[in-house]
Amino acid sequence: MRIGILALQGAFAEHREMLATLGVRAELVRTPGGLDGLDGLILPGGESTSMRRLAAWGGLDKALRDFGAGRPVWGVCAGLILMARYVEGEEPFAGLMDMAVARNAYGRQGESFVADLLPGRLGGGPLPGVFIRAPRVVEAGPGVEVLARHGGWPVALVQGHLLATAFHPELTPDPRMHAFFLKLCAARGALP
Ligand code: GLN
Repeated sequence: MRIGILALQGAFAEHREMLATLGVRAELVRTPGGLDGLDGLILPGGESTSMRRLAAWGGLDKALRDFGAGRPVWGVCAGLILMARYVEGEEPFAGLMDMAVARNAYGRQGESFVADLLPGRLGGGPLPGVFIRAPRVVEAGPGVEVLARHGGWPVALVQGHLLATAFHPELTPDPRMHAFFLKLCAARGALP
């Protein structure tokens, strides 16, 4: 299986390390050509304004939209913002997932926190959720399944071949979210 990680900015290296522990050597994507033949793509956390600008300069914006229309994509934090159909106060980027998000709604950098999340269909004990200037999903469409919530708000969501988390599993030693995404990719978007 060939998994790519958008590597323009942000926490891409940590995803690569986590995937390596699961036996997958991920490819870093910086150009539209880098998407060729991939079975899945991770949009990492970082800063979504910087990421969308860098993507647009390199012509990656359209390529990412086209890729995500049919192939598995997982957006983490800033990556979740890139995937959302509605972003409060700004134009959406890829507009792939039917949800509305408010950036930085969990507070500033210093208000970052770790919360135990119920793992739902991932199974096992509590899932550690690292929230860093996270976006809040204020609304999710009827075709979106919520995998986990925090304080009542959706923080892990899946819509067909698309996955989004407001928190950062790559910053914890818990591989369950990555393993789930790999299954989604192997099943070409059919829910594991
Ligand atoms: N606050 C960032 C943004 O709005 C996202 C933070 C993150 O990815 N940890 O783009």
